[in-house]
Amino acid sequence: MTGWLRRLRPRPAAPSPALWDATRARAALVARLDPDRDRRLRALAGEFLHRKTITPVAGLALDDGQRTLLAALCCLPLLEFGSEGLHGWSQLIVYPDAFRVNRTHVDAAGVLHEWEDELIGEAWEAGPLILSWADVESDLDTPDAGFCVAVHEMAHKLDALDGVLDGTPALPRAWQRAWARDFQQAYDGFVARLDAGGESGIDPYAAEAPEEFFAVCSEYHFSAPALLRTGLPTVAAHLQRFYGPSPLE
Ligand SMILES: [Zn+2]
Repeated sequence: MTGWLRRLRPRPAAPSPALWDATRARAALVARLDPDRDRRLRALAGEFLHRKTITPVAGLALDDGQRTLLAALCCLPLLEFGSEGLHGWSQLIVYPDAFRVNRTHVDAAGVLHEWEDELIGEAWEAGPLILSWADVESDLDTPDAGFCVAVHEMAHKLDALDGVLDGTPALPRAWQRAWARDFQQAYDGFVARLDAGGESGIDPYAAEAPEEFFAVCSEYHFSAPALLRTGLPTVAAHLQRFYGPSPLE
């Protein structure tokens, strides 16, 4: 009975050909997908637009073309994983530019520290995904520079699906073990090289924490895959399997 009901429920409509053509014209990472993955991304973007509320704030307005573009970029990391990667949250909040957030932390001595961070994106474990539109546009202007804030924040969402934000997404058990081992080794090596003053071409922000390492490397997989493969080959191999081939290869 439920199966029958489910079949009756219409699939969310994919973006119209005009909107999708405009998305491909603006986003090289979408334009360079092969026809099969392009079809999959378009369907995923339709599902994203159906399931997520996109809320522009602080005076920003977004038209249908910009919303479709955001949905497409956010769904790039789901090409292999599928729409289960959209589970557990409902809202994409978009600021016009980098945004300030207040942070607090109580240290071991019980002292409350408060500070302000300026962010271009943020993903709460079970809350909204937040992006700066100016930074999304800057990623689109330089698609092979190693940056893609939408992919970065979606990597955090995939990471958090198993309940722990630790740089290891939900995977079959054997792969998860190999992933955790290889990423830890690569992360430790990356931090050690950085501490010794070495330069890998990969954003040093990746050294912040294992979960940032995964999110930053995900950006390189999509927008500078050759650099990632040279600098961090084992990580590049896992990401190739997890996300499928980079559109830039
Ligand atoms: Zn991050």
